[in-house]
Amino acid sequence: MSGILTNKVAVITGGSSGIGLGIAKRFAKEGAKVAITGRNQDTIDKALEEIGPNGIGIRGDVSRLDDLTRLYQTVEKKFGKIDTLVVNAGIYIVGPLSMFTEEQFDRTSDINFKGAFFSVQKALPVLKDGASVILVSSTVNGKGIPNHAAYSATKAAVRSLARSFSAELLDRRIRVNTLTPGPVDTPIFSTITTSEAEATAMKEAMGNFTPVKRVATSDEMAAAALYMASDESTFMVGAEILLDGGLRDL
Ligand code: NAD
Repeated sequence: MSGILTNKVAVITGGSSGIGLGIAKRFAKEGAKVAITGRNQDTIDKALEEIGPNGIGIRGDVSRLDDLTRLYQTVEKKFGKIDTLVVNAGIYIVGPLSMFTEEQFDRTSDINFKGAFFSVQKALPVLKDGASVILVSSTVNGKGIPNHAAYSATKAAVRSLARSFSAELLDRRIRVNTLTPGPVDTPIFSTITTSEAEATAMKEAMGNFTPVKRVATSDEMAAAALYMASDESTFMVGAEILLDGGLRDL
C-alpha cells in the first residue's frame, strides 16, 4: 500500500488502546510499519487485529528501563530504524490533594514523566537522524483543575521535555513536538470510574463542558499525529498542536 508514511517505521508506546491505537491504525493505513507497546498481551493482540499486517506488538512497562531497552532492540532487529516515536503511554489518576497517596503520586510520575523521559533516551540509538518524536501531553497541563495536580504536573513536564529534547537533538535533526489533547473518547475514563455507565456519564459531562459540546475521537488525534510524523511538518520543532475543542479559553 502506498501512503504518506510509506517506508517509515513508527513506535507508539501505549499503542494498544485509545489515542495510541487510533494513531497506530492511521499510520499503518498510510504505509508505515508500526510497533505498538502496552502492558496487557490480550489487549495488544486485539489491537494488532485492527492494525493489520503492518503492525507488531511488544509488551512492556515504560517506567522500566530494561523493558524500554528490550523494546527498541526488538524494533531495531525487526525494522532496523525508527522514523517516528510517539510517546503516548500514560495513566490518569485523580484525587484530592489531602488524600492523594505517595503510591498514587509515584505511579503517575513514574509512567507519565519518567516513562516519557526514558522512552526518548532509550530510543536514541535506533532513532534515525531527521526522525519525528511526538510526546502526548494533555490540555489540563496548563489549567488549575481540582484533583488533577499530579497528573497535570506530569503533563506540563512532558511539554517541557519536548522543548529541551528538541534543542538538544537538533544536531541530528530530530524534531520533538507535543500533541496536546482535550478530552478524548478512550478507555482511560474507565480507569477512574467504577462502571461503564459512570465512565460514559463522565465523558458526556466533559463533552458538554467543552465549547464544541463533545469529546474528541482518537481518529482526530491521529490526523494531527500523522502531520507531525510526516515530512509535511519539517519546520515544526519543539512546538505543540493543541486539539481541545476550544477548552483552553475556559
Ligand atoms: P488508554 O487508557 O486508552 O491508553 C493508555 C495506553 O497506555 C494503553 O495502551 C496502556 O497499556 C498504556 N500504558 C499505561 N501505562 C503503561 C505503562 N506503565 N507501560 C506501558 N504502557 C502503559 O488512554 P488514552 O486516553 O488513549 O491515553 C493516551 C495518552 O493520552 C495518555 O498519555 C493520556 O494521559 C493522554 N491524554 C488522554 C486524554 C483523554 O481524554 N483520553 C486527554 C489528554 C491526554
